[in-house]
Amino acid sequence: MALPSRVAVVGAGTMGNGIAQVFAAHGVSVSLVDIDQALLDRGTANIETSLARFVKKGQLSEADAQAIRGRVSATTDNGCFAEAELIVEAVTENVAVKKQIFQRADQLAPAGCILASNTSSISITVLGAATARPDRVIGMHFMNPVPLMKLIEVIRAHATSDETTQKVMDWSRELGKTPVEANDYPGFVANRILGPMINEAIFALMEGVSTREGIDEIMKLGMNHPMGPLTLADFIGLDVCLNIMDVLKEGLGDDKYRACPLLRRMVAAGHLGRKTGKGFYDYD
Ligand code: NAD
Repeated sequence: MALPSRVAVVGAGTMGNGIAQVFAAHGVSVSLVDIDQALLDRGTANIETSLARFVKKGQLSEADAQAIRGRVSATTDNGCFAEAELIVEAVTENVAVKKQIFQRADQLAPAGCILASNTSSISITVLGAATARPDRVIGMHFMNPVPLMKLIEVIRAHATSDETTQKVMDWSRELGKTPVEANDYPGFVANRILGPMINEAIFALMEGVSTREGIDEIMKLGMNHPMGPLTLADFIGLDVCLNIMDVLKEGLGDDKYRACPLLRRMVAAGHLGRKTGKGFYDYD
């Protein structure tokens, strides 16, 4: 199925600019929406940097890179929702903010427009219930960095229709990605499994089972993981890792998802990983 001709991506942060770039690279006109111009400028600058890297590696011509840039228009105006066939929300992980965007999108977008969320942990069913079109609300969970990572976890909410799911699966393939369907339960599949693995690595560190280097090396060499769980936690952000565990514990009601006290303590200390220069490792 052909990709939609117009897509709106809401949120020009880490994920939103990557998502906008991938659609634009496949010929789609994209409106990239954020709350102020400085954030949009940062988002489009990140797209430029990413495209320049593809050009440098010889994977993209300068002319194609320019054409991709030209297909992304940055705006603070939600008016662009009125022309979109698909809206992908990638704003801050906050349920109240996301619900507001889904309500606004539902009011402004054409009846057939599909509303997707890139959330890592918020219930798609809750977002769908905030609209009058829950059958056309779905999760499109892209992975970071979006232009490089193949997977899209496609999340069916309680009321998502077969037709919506089929369309989003087809569009994801058209984007050169590999979509995999999951149902709307806390953490979906990716974070349901990744979160406890990282959490267990932190317990192993806290209990002195091995050093941070030892734990990472064992998982890298023994399980063929490209990076160890503590390095990965620093990359994801320890606050995000803690949030995943809290969502799993609350949503599934099982103590086995309790966050490791060391994780909680590091977040309280503001040692959040790469983004603060300090996590399990130092990044000065
Ligand atoms: P981010 O903080 O980098 O970017 C979020 C952007 O949303 C910011 O630019 C912010 O200004 C904007 N925003 C906030 N409220 C808005 C509003 N009302 N209208 C328009 N824009 C608004 O966050 P991120 O890391 O890109 O994450 C975005 C979403 O993607 C979250 O739901 C997160 O759970 C999910 N996600 C993140 C990753 C990751 O590795 N970072 C991976 C998969 C999914």
